[in-house]
Amino acid sequence: MFAGESIRERRPQFWQVAKRCCQIAATVDVAFFFLFHLLGSPILAWVNVVSVTMYVVAYRALGKKQNVLAITLIWSEVIIHAGLGVMLIGWESGFHYYLLMFIPALFVSMQLQRAIAALAALWSYYVALYLLMWFIEPLQPIAPGALLGVYLFNLSVVFAMFSYLSFFYLTMVTMANRKLRRMATTDSLTGLFNRRHMTYLVEKELARYQRSGHPVAFLVLDIDHFKSINDKYGHEAGDRVLGDVAGIIKAQLRTQDLIARWGGEEFLAVLPDTGLKSAQASAERVREALLAHDWRAPNGERIDLTISAGVSEFRSNDDLNSAINRADRALYRSKELGRNRVELEAF
Ligand code: GH3
Ligand code: MG
Ligand code: MG
Repeated sequence: MFAGESIRERRPQFWQVAKRCCQIAATVDVAFFFLFHLLGSPILAWVNVVSVTMYVVAYRALGKKQNVLAITLIWSEVIIHAGLGVMLIGWESGFHYYLLMFIPALFVSMQLQRAIAALAALWSYYVALYLLMWFIEPLQPIAPGALLGVYLFNLSVVFAMFSYLSFFYLTMVTMANRKLRRMATTDSLTGLFNRRHMTYLVEKELARYQRSGHPVAFLVLDIDHFKSINDKYGHEAGDRVLGDVAGIIKAQLRTQDLIARWGGEEFLAVLPDTGLKSAQASAERVREALLAHDWRAPNGERIDLTISAGVSEFRSNDDLNSAINRADRALYRSKELGRNRVELEAF
């Protein structure tokens, strides 16, 4: 079975990334629990127990697709933890850096207007925290060396998290672009090039072929009496046959040959470095492979499937249309002469 390419992408999902963030954040908080105990700051140590609990609940909520609850828990944890960290041991602890993680996350997770409002609130909170620490002393200060250690640790974690998020966004954008490009250039049923992209590719390549003086051949292939397959076995069965025919054509031609679904049950192949006779042989190979295939309807009944083809060769004063028209006329001759055959262009 040669089906069209799957549209589904293997890209990281939102909940997978959020779950990973919960794991990382909870691990960091476990480290903090022991660190602050050692540094003699028990309040901050126990804050981390609450934090880890919140991340565990958020992680489980993500597993149950309770995304709103999970996001609320994660954001609350970050806001409260950053605020408490700064108030307890000072602005120099670097706990406020975690708040900056909101900036890209808000833009990608909500509509612009809401994101701007949320960012204004975040900015106000950040500035208020900074101003507060101008006027009050840290509530539970730690030794300067320990403060430097906490600062460097926080800075490094935020660096790593920003890197991870940036990499995730980049991967998402790259994947989306690739998917869009594939959707714009290929036919979803057969996975072959669509007509528009084929025209673009062939026109681009023809100039090159012409300069080199090498021959280029055109094959137009059309399934015989395809309408009766649809009529007898249904449109869906017809679609499956089209996908399989495309796969067999592709398997019989070379990798450098360009193949497109040119119309409903009509295919165009452009064969670089191929003269008329070799192209005829290729078309015969395709015709015979399709003839030899054991075509079956969904009810197991045997389907007689044949294909007719017309072949032309690119000429120096040709354009794409004239070369295809000559192959088309040859195809019509194949049909007139009884189908299931390959005809060459007339001279
Ligand atoms: P001929 O041998 O003269 O080419 O006969 P034909 O029946 O193949 O040609 P005709 O042009 O009369 O009919 C083409 C049929 O192809 C009609 C149309 O329903 C079918 N077709 C076109 N596109 C699709 C498609 O995407 N899926 C399916 N299942 N059928 C399609
Ligand atoms: Mg047909
Ligand atoms: Mg047709």
